[in-house]
Amino acid sequence: MRLLHTDQPLTDEFTLIAELFRPLTDGMPEARGLADDVAVLGARPGFDLVVSSDALVAGVHFFSDDPPDLIARKALRVNLSDLAAKGAIPYGYQLMIAWPPGIPDAYKRDFVRGLREDQTRFGICLFGGDTVSTPGPMMVAVTIFGHVPQGSCPGRGGAATGDHILISGPVGDAWLGLQCLKGNLPAHNTSWDRDLIRAYHLPEPRLDLGGRVRSLATAAMDISDGLVADASHIGRYSQVCMSLDLDQVPTSKAAHHLIGLGISPIDLISGGDDYQILCCAPPDGAQQLITEGFVKIGLCRAAEPGRAAGVEVLSQGRRLDITRPGWVHGL
Ligand code: ADP
Ligand code: MG
Repeated sequence: MRLLHTDQPLTDEFTLIAELFRPLTDGMPEARGLADDVAVLGARPGFDLVVSSDALVAGVHFFSDDPPDLIARKALRVNLSDLAAKGAIPYGYQLMIAWPPGIPDAYKRDFVRGLREDQTRFGICLFGGDTVSTPGPMMVAVTIFGHVPQGSCPGRGGAATGDHILISGPVGDAWLGLQCLKGNLPAHNTSWDRDLIRAYHLPEPRLDLGGRVRSLATAAMDISDGLVADASHIGRYSQVCMSLDLDQVPTSKAAHHLIGLGISPIDLISGGDDYQILCCAPPDGAQQLITEGFVKIGLCRAAEPGRAAGVEVLSQGRRLDITRPGWVHGL
């Protein structure tokens, strides 16, 4: 193994891998020192390996001039959020990265500093990946691995009529942070802007709650594309109507203040990037989840004949017309 001075120019893919990425393996044998064609993940008796991938593209999921360490941390966190929603214990990750030409070494080092910070915080390490150059925008994709006790990973399809619908925390801050960055908010008290922008840049994966979700929820997922859109996935796969009560959906103080200034709460439940856990549980389990910090926001009803299973949003008992439920990538 060549030892490289830390400030040596990152002239090619191999220098980059050896100098920047190899330290992120923390010497874990799975990664084989990033000197092989594969990573090798041993089976853990009594557990299932849970795997999820999410990609972030410049201009779509982040701004090209966002700080690179924050881009890296968000790439890890959106994946960790998927594990959290399934009650999985984080294990490690693969990193696929496409650099456009001319990215300075300092930028790449900052990116890796962000990975280091969050992988230490969340107890994971790098197992491998791929590095390519691209004529297009920068792209970062993470595939994350976690473990759940065998057979215990909740899906989207297990919710039943009568289950309560719960959410792990406030909705809409990240969307407001994005609007704030775009200069789209009405004149307001700016003292909360930092928190809103932080919610957009650095979601907090709810790993603190996952274990309870795994044991109590009939269906669970994290919300990334907007509460309404993601609830409709549980509705569709579970063949129930997810009846959400807008008036019970928790919002932060800052969001509440902005609603007072004319921001529509419907935008908050349609905007994405919340990374809270949405789950369903029968009344007893729901009560236990509420003591853990979940908030009840609705009820699973029988899907009406002739109406597709999915989602409805009520406010003061009346069904609202939601035309744009959430973020969908056009293809
Ligand atoms: P290949 O020729 O099969 O694409 P590479 O030369 O790209 O192989 O990769 C060599 C080693 O470096 C492998 O262990 C791979 O997992 C690792 N690697 C490459 N890019 C990354 C990356 N972005 N993050 C982590 N590991 C990487
Ligand atoms: Mg490669």
